[in-house]
Amino acid sequence: MTTDPRTYTYPEDLLRERIILITGSSDGIGRALALESARLGAQVILHGRNTAKLEKVYDAIIAIEGAPRPSIAVLDLASANAEGYTTLAQSAADEFGRLDGLVHNAAIVGDRFSIEQYDAVEWQRVIHINLTAGFALTQVLLPLLRKSGDASVIFTSSSVGRVGRAFWGAYAASKFAIEGLSQVLADEHRHTTLRSNCINPGATRTNMRLAAFPAEDRDLLKTPEEVLAPYIYLLGPDSTGVTGESFDAQ
Ligand code: NAP
Repeated sequence: MTTDPRTYTYPEDLLRERIILITGSSDGIGRALALESARLGAQVILHGRNTAKLEKVYDAIIAIEGAPRPSIAVLDLASANAEGYTTLAQSAADEFGRLDGLVHNAAIVGDRFSIEQYDAVEWQRVIHINLTAGFALTQVLLPLLRKSGDASVIFTSSSVGRVGRAFWGAYAASKFAIEGLSQVLADEHRHTTLRSNCINPGATRTNMRLAAFPAEDRDLLKTPEEVLAPYIYLLGPDSTGVTGESFDAQ
C-alpha cells in the first residue's frame, strides 16, 4: 500500500539523530515544522533573518522535553552574498559534519500587480528570495547533504506554482521555477540516496496568507501544525527513494 503523505502518521522518535535545516523557521509553517521536528528528535538548524524571532523559537524548542538543543543560522536571503552562504555552510559542517534534511520554506509574496504593472525591481527581489536563494543555499550545502546516507531536500511550492493566476506575478513564476529546480536536483541525484521533492502546503493560517487575503475568515484555514504530515514524511526514512515528486499538504 502506498503512503498518502497528507495522512502520514509517525512514531515519536522518527527524526532522532537527523540534522535538519529549515529556512524561514522564525514564523508560520517553518516555525511549526521546526518545533515538530525537534519534538521528534531532530537536531534543527533554525534559519531566518530576525535573531530575536529565532531566539523565541529556540526557547520554545528547549522547553520541549527531550528535544535536542537547536542551532540558529541568521542570513537575510534578500542581501546575503557568497561569503554569507559559505559561512553558514562552514558553521553547519563544523558543528555537525553532515546534513540529513534541508527544507526551503522562506519566501515572500511581493507585490500583487498585473504583469503589465509589475515593477521590475520588485520582480527581481521576489525571484531572488524565493528561487535564487534556494539554489545558492542548496549548492553550498550539497557537500554536507552528500555526507548523509539518507538526505532529503524539500522545496515549498504553491497552488500558483502549478497553475498561473492573475496578479500573482513573480511569486507564481518563482514557485513554478522551484518545482523545476527540485526536479533537476532530483534527476541529477537519481543514482544516489539524496532525494528532492516539493510540497504545496495549501491555504494556511500564517502572516503571509493574512497579508495576501486580509478579508478572509482565518478560522476556516488550516493551522501550520495541521499541514506538517507530508514534511515529516519526506524528512524521515519512510520516504527513502521518493524523489522528483510534488505533493499537496491538503
Ligand atoms: P510566513 O509566516 O510569512 O513565514 C515566512 C518565513 O520566511 C518567515 O520565517 C520569514 O522571516 C522568512 N523570510 C522571509 N523573507 C526572508 C529573507 N529575506 N531572509 C530570510 N528569511 C526570510 O509564511 P508561511 O505562510 O509560513 O510560508 C511558508 C512557505 O509556504 C512559503 O514558501 C510560502 O510561499 C509557502 N506557502 C504558504 C501558503 C499559505 O497559505 N500560508 C500557501 C502556499 C504556499 P521573518 O519571520 O523574519 O519575516
